[in-house]
Amino acid sequence: MSLQNPVFIPGPTNIPEEIRKACDMPTIDHRSPTFARMFKPAVAGVRRVLNMGAGEVIILPSTGTGGWEAAITNTLSQGDTVLAARFGMFSHRWIDLCQRHGLAVQVIETPWGQGAPLGAIEAALRADTGHKIKAVLATHNETATGVRSDIAGIRRALDAAGHPAMLFVDGVSSIGSMPFDMAGWGVDIAVAGSQKGFMLPAGLAILGVSPKALGAMETAGLPRTFFDFRDMLKSYAAGGYPYTPAVGLIAGLAKSIEILEDEGLEAVYARHHRLAEATRRAIAAWGMRPCAASPDLYSDTVTAVLVPDGCNGTELVQLAATKYGVAFGVGLGEVAGKVFRIGHLGMLTDVMLLSGLATAEMCMADLGWTVKLGSGVAAAQEYLRNSTTVALAAAA
Ligand SMILES: *Cc1c(COP(=O)(O)O)cnc(C)c1O
Repeated sequence: MSLQNPVFIPGPTNIPEEIRKACDMPTIDHRSPTFARMFKPAVAGVRRVLNMGAGEVIILPSTGTGGWEAAITNTLSQGDTVLAARFGMFSHRWIDLCQRHGLAVQVIETPWGQGAPLGAIEAALRADTGHKIKAVLATHNETATGVRSDIAGIRRALDAAGHPAMLFVDGVSSIGSMPFDMAGWGVDIAVAGSQKGFMLPAGLAILGVSPKALGAMETAGLPRTFFDFRDMLKSYAAGGYPYTPAVGLIAGLAKSIEILEDEGLEAVYARHHRLAEATRRAIAAWGMRPCAASPDLYSDTVTAVLVPDGCNGTELVQLAATKYGVAFGVGLGEVAGKVFRIGHLGMLTDVMLLSGLATAEMCMADLGWTVKLGSGVAAAQEYLRNSTTVALAAAA
């Protein structure tokens, strides 16, 4: 690794200098009004990024995984049924977490590279006439395969089946980088982390919680202490936390939201789409294709690139790290070795992306893969220079 180079892993992402400075602050008393003055804008900002209606934002010293745990332990009881599709490492881990907490998970096995299967979800909900399913879990952006699922479609499936289950969405690698509409999609809990779209170091789980999920909190039987929303909300009302918050990260979160909103959320989403499209053009020029099975599933934050038969994606990632000091993501689980992943989210410009694509090409040539140096870079350059609508927004 070289500290001069950007990273192209799909989180943690590159941290803007301004955010690093914002996190670097002297100790303050977290029970003082100074903390409340920092905390309130961060909470209000998260509300806008999630496009929340009524409900509460909860910010825990944790990571995305802790956000999953907080979501279920605050709303469900031992033996409750939840419905989830498994189509990648992250959807798998959330299912595993639920099982370890004693929930009955009704799993819809789905090929990796596909998204949440709307028809099967609706069928499962219709079949559940006794309403045993208490929540539907959905991974908005499956970071292992670079697949974006249709959350509005899951809401339609719930409504069409007339099913009262709550909808919990993992938006860890989409929120802040791709459009997210908590109110419009009727999401009951949205889970984000600090180190992806928010461009911060790891250390915060960020959740949006709907009034319906807050209602479920009153009767939920799963044990929780550190993650108990009730303690958190009681302390929030007094401007603080039930324990010591990650003050520097919260200062950084307020700065992150300022940076995102200065660019404009729509412009941020457009920039991510454009960088993702440039990446896909490069991949096509290499004669490869994304793991995501069809264009409607393409993620704008990460692309898992299927490597040709006889090639090993992990070798490319290892060589990029050792020879060029550049980080790409390895394939996880079922697609280990079969893909390598290019993260294109967070603080990223055209110029940064081109350097990553050029590095990937050098590695392919070094490994003896069939590639023409410059072919993917040229395809990305052609696309980027002809689609300049938001080109300078990130740097402004
Ligand atoms: C990164 C990620 C997580 C896990 O987050 P941690 O912060 O590593 O605990 C969960 N879901 C998705 C989709 C992710 O990309």
